[in-house]
Amino acid sequence: MDVKKEIETLVKTLNEYSRAYYIDAKPIVSDVEYDRLYDRLLKLEKENPDFILPESPTQRVGSDLSNDFPEFRHTIPVLSLDKAYSDSEVISYMQKTIAKRANDLSFVAEEKIDGISMVLYYEKGLLVRAVTRGNGEVGNEVTANIKTIATVPLRLTEEIDIAVRGEVYLAKEDFFRVNESLDEDKKAANPRNLAAGTVRRQKSAEASLVPLNIFCYEGFWDKSPESHLEILSYLKRLGFRVNDHIALFSSSKEKSEKMLEDAGLTGRAYSFTEMQDYIDFKTKERKDLAYEIDGLVFKVNEIKEREVLGYTEHHPRWAIAYKFESPQAVSTLLGITVQVGRTGRITPVAELKEVQLGGSTIKRATLHNQEYIDSLELAIGDTVSIVKRGDVIPQVEDVIEKNELGNTVYKIDMHCPCCNSPLKKEGAHLFCRNPECPEQVIGTLSFFASRTQMDIESLGPKTVKVFYEAGLLRKVEDIYNADYSSLIGQKGIGVKTVEAIVDGVNESKKQPFKIVLSSLGIAELGKKSAEILENAGFDSFDKLKDATEEDLLKVDGIGSVMAKIIVDSFKEPRLLETIEKLKEAGLKMSSDEDEKESDLDQIFSGTTWCVTGSFKNFNPRDKALSEIEKRGGKTSGSISGKTTHLLKGEGGGSKTEKAEKLGIKIVSEDEFLSLIGWGEKKAVSPIQLELF
Ligand code: NAD
Repeated sequence: MDVKKEIETLVKTLNEYSRAYYIDAKPIVSDVEYDRLYDRLLKLEKENPDFILPESPTQRVGSDLSNDFPEFRHTIPVLSLDKAYSDSEVISYMQKTIAKRANDLSFVAEEKIDGISMVLYYEKGLLVRAVTRGNGEVGNEVTANIKTIATVPLRLTEEIDIAVRGEVYLAKEDFFRVNESLDEDKKAANPRNLAAGTVRRQKSAEASLVPLNIFCYEGFWDKSPESHLEILSYLKRLGFRVNDHIALFSSSKEKSEKMLEDAGLTGRAYSFTEMQDYIDFKTKERKDLAYEIDGLVFKVNEIKEREVLGYTEHHPRWAIAYKFESPQAVSTLLGITVQVGRTGRITPVAELKEVQLGGSTIKRATLHNQEYIDSLELAIGDTVSIVKRGDVIPQVEDVIEKNELGNTVYKIDMHCPCCNSPLKKEGAHLFCRNPECPEQVIGTLSFFASRTQMDIESLGPKTVKVFYEAGLLRKVEDIYNADYSSLIGQKGIGVKTVEAIVDGVNESKKQPFKIVLSSLGIAELGKKSAEILENAGFDSFDKLKDATEEDLLKVDGIGSVMAKIIVDSFKEPRLLETIEKLKEAGLKMSSDEDEKESDLDQIFSGTTWCVTGSFKNFNPRDKALSEIEKRGGKTSGSISGKTTHLLKGEGGGSKTEKAEKLGIKIVSEDEFLSLIGWGEKKAVSPIQLELF
């Protein structure tokens, strides 16, 4: 390909990737791949400046502008950052910058939070608007959604006009908890994508269900401060959440220590010669942090020097971002398995030669859909690179070497691998639309019984399959009528298993209405939507059957797509029959029938709990949260000054450390069991809890 053509192709591809990343919050490629192509474009443009296109991503900040929100022209520079990938690049950047200025510079290092860039504008100390980065000049106003973030101050401690830059993010634990409760097609690949999607929700009631957080790192007001340290310490005094994990680099460690102390900030002090130690330390510490970081940002501390160094179109010359590489590995594609989800969605999965990646053994990785396979021109036998997207979910990233077996690009068979029905393409995905497709039925039954839904623990997917194949379970309602004992002695089903299933089935009848509703597998209607509907008064199946699209659209948090799905679903005879049978079985048909918890002693009233680690008796952890709430306690996803107790299971890293620092009471699982009366001792009184 000639250079001009290659530049054009790179610009077009990178702009497509940017749209998917910033606006749709659904990246098509990993950051490593994006950065690889970006660097290639940068190199070609440097060698051939005549071919630089005005729409090249190197000429502007990657844009997160969309038409859905009002636009606002920034009054401060909102740029991206120049990047470095090794400690030597960072050192060389610092040396060059110091040489340019011939002054005794110092640099503040901050964690590069992997979230969404946000600018908060305050007038006379009041938050007047929150604006995305946009194209660096104009951003989208998302104030209502940002106001739902508890750590964004609405009123500052001083009546000042100030613009503040920060990164809105979702903590790892909160991401896993929220993502678990989302419908399959709404799940995000990583915390950044979920945070980006939330910031752009049309209804702030929906945004408020995701516990976003913020770290602020720059402030612009009429008085020019002398240093970045002064900015950070002033932001803190005004009431902003500033990350304490900073470091200062100067000509000597002692000097850095003194500067931090003078600014009243805690942080690590270094001399320039210790860069590698610092990067090694942060690389190790990264996995234990409560939030994701994708790098470190080094900023000139002296503000006057910053002004002289200035800006390019794309980034300030006074800062550089060191980017961590996403863990990457090389393997061979042995085959492709095609899976059918409970909604009928078809997902190709790569079967790989076993390989170690970021501390775990990988044998399988997602290939998303046929379009993704085509974009990689992927064939069985190819040597491929695998990355952990957002460092969490492995995916095949690229073909490194084509196979020598003569295999061509893999094509998904247009028939369901399970029931052989013809597949239908809807959007980017293929679907099997046969409602009796065994994989879908087993998926629907398993979903209904799963821990996060009706919680029939002993009825996992493998057991469901055995009873399905024996013809005992075909519909959700069969779960309540099946004669489980008829399989005793067959296919590994023993008396104990059957007893556990029967107990689990009976116990599940106590599940509240909203759980029953969200367990039916109605598309789009997950736990969050069920809760929104219930709170809006649609708190029984009868009311939902009578609801019109117009009624539902009045509910904050219910959009037109969901309203239509709900109305159509509650007309389907199949679903109505299931509901009728579940009623006969004794399940809750309205929230009026839910068991009230008012009999429980409100021993936790006035306390705020945070939960970390994993538990024997509370799996998923939401169950522990619900026991706290039932007894009058408040729960929160992260530790703050308001937290009074930390319930600590096995593992649990950074939250424990923070709790210890703040002197918060740490409660073990055993202690918690006895507090709520599940253990050997009786439940305690509020006074005993105080003494605990
Ligand atoms: P960037 O996100 O790499 O760096 C700049 C941003 O860092 C700032 O806008 C700010 O929001 C953020 N930041 C976090 N903590 C900060 C701190 N303490 N101080 C200052 N800034 C801080 O740059 P970018 O231009 O937004 O995006 C480019 C990167 O985004 C690429 O390198 C790539 O990895 C990724 N990207 C990926 C895709 C994809 O398809 N996967 C597409 C576009 C961009």
